[in-house]
Parts: sequence; C-alpha cells; structure tokens
Amino acid sequence: MGVLWLDEVDKDDVPIVGGKAANLGELIRVGIPVPEGFVVDGKTFMDFLESSGLKEKIIEILNSINVEDTKQLEEASKKIREMIESTPMPKEVEEEIKQAYRKLCEESGEEVFVAVRSSATAEDLPGASFAGQQETYLNVRGEDEVVEKVRKCWSSLYTPRAIYYRVQKGFRHEDVSIAVVVQKMVNSEKSGVMFTSHPVTGDKIAIIEAVWGLGEAIVSGMVTPDHYEYDRVQRKIVVVKIAEKKVMLTRGEDGKTVKVELDEEKAKARVLSDSEIEELVKLGEIIEDHYGTPQDVEWAIEKGKIYIVQSRPITTIREEKREEEVELEEGKILLKGLGASPGIGIGKVKIVLSQDEISKVEEGDVLVTTMTTPDMVPAMRKASAIVTDEGGLTCHAAIVSRELGVPAVVGTEKATKILKDGMVVTVDGDKGVVYAGAIKEKKKEEKPAVVAQAPIVTATEVKVNISIPDAAERVAATGADGVGLFRIEHMVLGLKKHPMKYIRDGEVEEYINELYKGMKKVVKAFYPKPVWIRTLDAPTDEFRAMEGGEDEPIEANPMLGFRGIRRDLKEEEHFRAEIRAIKKLVDEGYTNIGIMLPLVTSPEEVRRAKQIIMEEGLPLDKIEFGIMVETPAAALIIEDIIKEGIDFISLGTNDLTQYTLAVDRNNENVAYLYNETHPAVMKLIERTIKICKKHGVKTSICGQAGSYPHVVEKLVRMGIDSVSANPDAVQRIKEVVARVEKKIMLDKLREKELENIPD
Ligand code: PEP
Ligand code: MG
Repeated sequence: MGVLWLDEVDKDDVPIVGGKAANLGELIRVGIPVPEGFVVDGKTFMDFLESSGLKEKIIEILNSINVEDTKQLEEASKKIREMIESTPMPKEVEEEIKQAYRKLCEESGEEVFVAVRSSATAEDLPGASFAGQQETYLNVRGEDEVVEKVRKCWSSLYTPRAIYYRVQKGFRHEDVSIAVVVQKMVNSEKSGVMFTSHPVTGDKIAIIEAVWGLGEAIVSGMVTPDHYEYDRVQRKIVVVKIAEKKVMLTRGEDGKTVKVELDEEKAKARVLSDSEIEELVKLGEIIEDHYGTPQDVEWAIEKGKIYIVQSRPITTIREEKREEEVELEEGKILLKGLGASPGIGIGKVKIVLSQDEISKVEEGDVLVTTMTTPDMVPAMRKASAIVTDEGGLTCHAAIVSRELGVPAVVGTEKATKILKDGMVVTVDGDKGVVYAGAIKEKKKEEKPAVVAQAPIVTATEVKVNISIPDAAERVAATGADGVGLFRIEHMVLGLKKHPMKYIRDGEVEEYINELYKGMKKVVKAFYPKPVWIRTLDAPTDEFRAMEGGEDEPIEANPMLGFRGIRRDLKEEEHFRAEIRAIKKLVDEGYTNIGIMLPLVTSPEEVRRAKQIIMEEGLPLDKIEFGIMVETPAAALIIEDIIKEGIDFISLGTNDLTQYTLAVDRNNENVAYLYNETHPAVMKLIERTIKICKKHGVKTSICGQAGSYPHVVEKLVRMGIDSVSANPDAVQRIKEVVARVEKKIMLDKLREKELENIPD
C-alpha cells in the first residue's frame, strides 16, 4: 500500500484512507463521475513517523504539555509541524506520489491543477470526527509542489485544534493517522450545490443552487445563485429563480482564483438548462439511494460534463414531519392575515368578545377574537387554532400560540365580523389564511426515509424566548442553549390581580410566591442552561384590565410612558418583590439565572437597580446581571452603562426600532415604516456589539429580529455571542447560525487564496 487510486477504495477502507477518500471511492463504484485522483494512505504517514524517528519525539512533546495552556499548545504544534515539514519523505514514497501525479497529467499532456486534501483516519475510534480539522490546498500544480503539500497535510494532523480535540475526546495521538487525497481540480464553467431531498422536511424535492464559474462563490456568499427545485415525485422542474450573478470566480493561468465581473446579459442568464437539472437530479438520486439518506452534494460542470465533487448526508431533516409543511387542497379563502404560529387547525369557530365568553371554547374549536388576553390562555390551549383581528408577530396571541404550538393567524382586521359562531374553518398558520370548511391535505407520495436529526452545535449560542411557564418543558425540548428572554408580563397578567394591588392589600408574600412558582418552572426545565429573567415591563394600557388596574394612569402614548425599569424604580416595592422571588430560587441552587432590566436609558437606573438587588441580599457574583438595549439612549451611551458593571446586554429590537424610527409598534397606520433592518437601527446594533465586545460584555438579541435568518446572519458576522429566537424558529436559526459560522471559517481559509485577485 502507499498510493491508492480513488477507484480502488471503498467504504471498508475508511480506517486506512479516511472518510473523505472512502466516500469518493464509493461514489465512483456506483457510477458517479468524480474527478480523478489518488490517495496516500494513513499507513504511509505512520511508517514515515516510525522510520524517521519522529514518532517518539512527537509523543514526548505532546506528553509534556498542558493543552489548556494555549501558549504551550501552540508552541508544541509549531515545533512538531516544523519537524514533519523539514524531514524528507522516504524516496520511494516521494517517487510513488510523483508518478501518480504524472499519471493524472497524462490525458491532458500538461501539468494539471490538483486539490490536496487531508483525510484523517482512525482505527477503532467510534465517535471520532475530524472533519475540518486538517488542511486542504487548492490549485496545486507540479510534482514537487504536490509532494510538499502532502507533507503539509501530514503536519496538519498536529494543528493546535486537532491536538486539543484528541486530548479532549480521550483519543491517543498514536491511534490517529492521516491520509491525503490528491484530486484533479475541475475548472468549472458552472457549479453549485444540490440537496437531493428537501433539507428540512425530507420531501422528495431536489434543490439546486448554481453560479457561473467556481462554486466557492456560493459558499462564501459572494454571489446569489440561481435556485431550482425539482419535484422528484412528479418528475418535473417546479421552481426556476434566476438571480443576478454580477461576478464569477474562475482560475487564472497561474492557478490563482480570479474574480471576473460579468456583463449584464451573462449575469442575468439562467445557469442550468432543464436537461442539466434533470441529469444532476438523476446523479443525486443514485447517491441518495446508495447511502439510503438524502445528500448534500457539491457539483461542477466543465466542458459540458458534470462532476460530483463531494457528497455528505443532510443532517438537518426533521425526524417528525410537522404539520406546518402540510399542503392544503384548494379552498375558498375567507380571510387573510399574518401567519403567526405554524401548522394547520380545523374546527368550529367560537367568537370570544368578552371575558365571560371564554368558557364557550371547547377542545378543538377555533378561537376567534379581537386580541387574546392572558386570561384566555387556558382556552387557547384547548383551541385547534387561533384567529385575531389585531396584532403582529410580537402580539400576545402570536407569542403565546407559538409557545403552545397552536396554529394562529393574527391581524386579519375583520375575523370577528366575517366569521360566525359554529362555522367550520381551516386555519393555515404558515400562510396566514383562513379557509371555509374543512380542507383536506393534498395527497402526497409516501414520505422518503429521513435521517435522524443530529443536534446542531453552534459557537454562537441559539437560545429561546419564553413567556408562559407552563410551556417551559415543551420549549426546552427545542434544544435551545438557554432562555435569552423570559418575559414575565404574560405570567403576571395571568394572576388574579394587579401586582400593585397585591402590595397595597398587604399580600406581597403571595405575589412573590406566584412569581417564584412561575419562574421555577422555567429555570428548572432549562437547568443548568441559563435563563435570563427580565424584570417586569408593564405598559399601563395592558395592565389596566386587571383587577386593581383601575389606578393605572391614562397615558397618551403608553409605549413612551410608565413601563420598564423606570416604572420598577418608582414602584420600588414591586421591584424588591421580583428580586426576592429570584433570591428564593438562587438560595435553592438555581444559579442558572440572569437578571435583565428592560427599557434602560441611563447608568443611574442600572446603579440604583443594582443597589436594591444588593440590599435584598441577592449575590450578583452567583448569577448574571444585564440589561436590554432597546432605546437609542442605551445604545449611544453603552460605555457609561458598562461602567456600572454588567455581564451582558440583549438587543430588544422591537422597541429599539420603534424608538429609533419614531414608529409606534402598535400603530397600524405607520406599520409600513416599521423596519428592524433600517440602517439607523443596524448602526446602533453594530456599535453596541462592538463596544460590548471590547469590554468583555456578552451580547445577545431577543427582539423578533433574532428569529429572522437575514438579520441573524448579519449579527453572527458582527460577532454576537448568542441569539434568542421564538420557540418555533429555534431549529431554523440554529441551521442559519451553523451555516454562517461555516461560511465565516471558509472565508477565512480562502482569504489567502482570494487576496491576490485583481478587481
Ligand atoms: C424588544 O423590545 O425587542 C423586546 C424583546 O421586548 P418586548 O417585545 O417585550 O418589548
Ligand atoms: Mg421591549
């Protein structure tokens, strides 16, 4: 052994050639066109270490360091890599590699460009995953270069990250080796990616993205690709979206990647013909059938020939198909609004216009109301769907129904007028539509086998927002990394009287106990993951309806009024009650808590709140303490607030947007101006993140924008530490974050290659 051609290896060879090479071999065996290449097996590297005497030296160095000490780790890695790179390969190995390279060049009669990729190998180490830890070199040409890059791949078995990973996993360094794949590079006219089945639902819809030139342009986000969808059941192309692809990447004479501006005609031209799409899908189906699971495939076309460059299983498909993907047959549309909570609900309409009508709602009914209130929660739980006249994606009905998992359509304007008690309707919470009658699901082909959903681990934490303690278990099951916002208003609104009435009636202990019980459900369900509890943000208009709420002042604009931390500092007894409830939990050992202050505008507010917390004997060194940044004031003087001592900030973009743009978030007359990605809002966000990072203060977002993929992508790039999404968006946001993080890493890796590109 030593050098093996890719068509000589298969999945049984993983221990000696690594997963990457074995996978390519498997594809060739089932007739997939894969660029030609060979692999220098893992044993060759082991032999090299033995015969050169490097093995003992390496082990000695590794045994002498503490991998938690970054400096030591980096120095050890550098030393080992230098040793490997400066030790000549055995002559016969070098010759074998050169010969194989020459063979690759035979057909074209000139030195070809190759990719030299590491493929780590481990015998009998279940659970080992070395993907992405070792190096890859693209556009390598000439036999000496190839040999040098093989040695560099070898040495990359000892990057600090790889050493650290093995120690952490308890793998012996001696048990891990490295194979190196040398493969012809495709100088593609067109390239892209393909999901052989839908990446979330597992439906038999192949999704293809395509650009002109090299595929790096897609992965790096440089170009928006064309998007095609092919229905594998109906056997036809169902979506063709042509993007404007202003540039393409291609390889220059010297092997460097070159960015080329495209003229308008080419930029707007469709990349793939119908027959190319069909051919790609056929190849994708062969691969999916072979592995038995949907695949994420990279492809390239050179001189009209399709090559499959890489294929791996899709790990994002949900195991269970949620109702939200159900397609309905055509029906008569009665109403349209905003799809606020996904899923389909069918049932009898029950119109609830006042509190005493709540009891009308029976299991499976469709609850129709102007706007839900906290005392409707039990009825909401029973309902098969919820429809409201008013509200947007952050209204009570939207938040609560998402947490309860009940489909909802909000903001229909006239549901309570158009729908009548007893009518049977179908509510589509995805599309925001209410249909007359019970609409059947569209008949679909048998669902494809779907792969189990591997948990997605992201460096940027993906947390979840919660407001109904009873939903805590369900919300924790999303796998979120904690709670980035626990809005306690909904819980408090659900109590039998206004918080200040408890206090006035001398029943503060009872109130504290209510808070404690509700909070405990959440911190317990998530323990030991952190739960950031936000102190009460009670606008006067929302709290007036409660028993004892008659004393709420009448305000012309409650959004700018007596709410948030300013209110709690005036009604200090109330703030103290909240702190006491939290203290009870901390005393019981629930230290997975953060206290978060809403609507902060000055350092004095933070100072005073901290003082009260300390007076109540709540140890701030045991838990976290932070603020919401939801006013331009907080964003603009964040340095001064940081000086008061905070551990974190969370961007409340719902309010930050309304205060920055002077657009009342509850006023539909100006709703068209409400834009969380307005440049002014984005500037405030960017500034805040930057300054917090400088001072070691953690950053997060818990406004609705944290559930929007396009915003999250930007925030991850800005370096936000965590994102807190609505429960229904956690999985999607995890996927987005994982993809962006990968893109960032790839961009970095490719930076070197792209930096010499002429404009
Ligand atoms: C916000 O303002 O973005 C926020 C999360 O708080 P709320 O929506 O409760 O005002
Ligand atoms: Mg807010």
